[in-house]
Amino acid sequence: MIIALKTGISEETVQQLTAYLEQKNLTVHRSQGTSQTVLGLVGDTTRIDEEALRAISCVDKVLRVQEPYKKAHRAFHPDDTCIEVQGLDGYTRQIGGQYFGIIAGPCSVESEEQIIAIAKSVQKAGAHFLRGGAFKPRSSPYSFQGLGIDGLKLLIQAKQETGMPLVSELMDIQQLDSFESVDVIQIGARNMQNFTLLKEIGKCHKPILLKRGLANTITELLMAAEYIMAGGTETVLLCERGIRSFDSYTRNVLDISAVPALKKQSHLPVIVDPSHATGLSWMVPAMAKAALAAGADGIIVEVHNDPEHALCDGEQSITPTVFRTLVEKLRNYAILESRII
Ligand code: PEP
Ligand code: MN
Repeated sequence: MIIALKTGISEETVQQLTAYLEQKNLTVHRSQGTSQTVLGLVGDTTRIDEEALRAISCVDKVLRVQEPYKKAHRAFHPDDTCIEVQGLDGYTRQIGGQYFGIIAGPCSVESEEQIIAIAKSVQKAGAHFLRGGAFKPRSSPYSFQGLGIDGLKLLIQAKQETGMPLVSELMDIQQLDSFESVDVIQIGARNMQNFTLLKEIGKCHKPILLKRGLANTITELLMAAEYIMAGGTETVLLCERGIRSFDSYTRNVLDISAVPALKKQSHLPVIVDPSHATGLSWMVPAMAKAALAAGADGIIVEVHNDPEHALCDGEQSITPTVFRTLVEKLRNYAILESRII
C-alpha cells in the first residue's frame, strides 16, 4: 500500500503517522521528494482500512497495491482448493482441481413425487450433487416461497434414496439447525453482501456455495468469500450466475470472463449457473459447455421433470432428457480439457 502525503507536511506529522502505521505491524519505507513525502507500507495490509487512512488530514492519496483479501487469494494458497463431500452411498464427490462437479435439481422442492423423480433421473444421468430450494428468495412476497422445513425433509428423503449429497439455500442463520443434513449450504445472490449472515455462516465449517450478487464486482465476491473464510470455513465455492446489464434478452448476462478472473485471483473452486444467468432453458446447454471451456470447476443447473408447471423458474429449467444429453457432451469435452467428470 502506498500513501502520498499532502505537500508541506511537517516532519513531526510524518513521524507521528509513521509511528501509527508501525504500531499496526507494518514496515514503512519513506521516499522524500522536494515537496512531497510518499510512504510505502510493507506487511499484511488486508486489515488496514483505506477509508480511515484517507480521512487523516495529512494524507493526500492512498493506493492499494495488494488485493484486500488474503484467505481467498491465490498468492497465499497457490494450489487449487478442491471440495470433497461423501454421499450416503459411500462415494466421494469432488469439485475443483481436476474435478468438474455437476450440481443439478429443481429450483424449488415442490412435492415428494417431484423431488424424488428428479433426484433419481439426474443421478442416473451423472449429477454429483442434488440441488433444491426449500427457502426461496422471491422478488414478490406473493410468489411461492418454498416448502421450508417440509422441503428440507423431502430433500433429505431424496438424499437417503439416492445417496447424493445436497445443496440448498439458507436465507437466515436461524435456519441453520434445520440444515444439519445439507452438505453444501448455498448463500444466494441477494445475500452475497449480507455481512451478518456471511460472518455467522463462516463458523459452521461446511462447504459454502456463494453466488455472485446481481450487481457485484469480482472483488466484492472475493471479499464476501473472505468474510466467510474469516469465520473459519476453508471451502467456499464461488458461483458466477449472471449479472444485471442493459439487455433484457436474457434474464441476466453471464459474465463468462469472471471464471478465468476468479481462478487467477483465487484458489477457490469456481462454478457457473447457466440457468439463472440466462433464464432460458434452451440456452443452458450452450452456456454449460462454455463454463467448462472457460475453466470452471463445475456447474449448478436447474432440472425439472415438468418445467411448464414448475412453481419457480420453469422457463429456465431443462428436462431430465436434455440434462442427460448435456452430461454426455460435457464428458466428451472434459477429456479435451483434462478434467474428470
Ligand atoms: C437459486 O439458486 O434458485 C437462486 C435463487 O439463485 P440466485 O441466488 O443466483 O438468484
Ligand atoms: Mn431458481
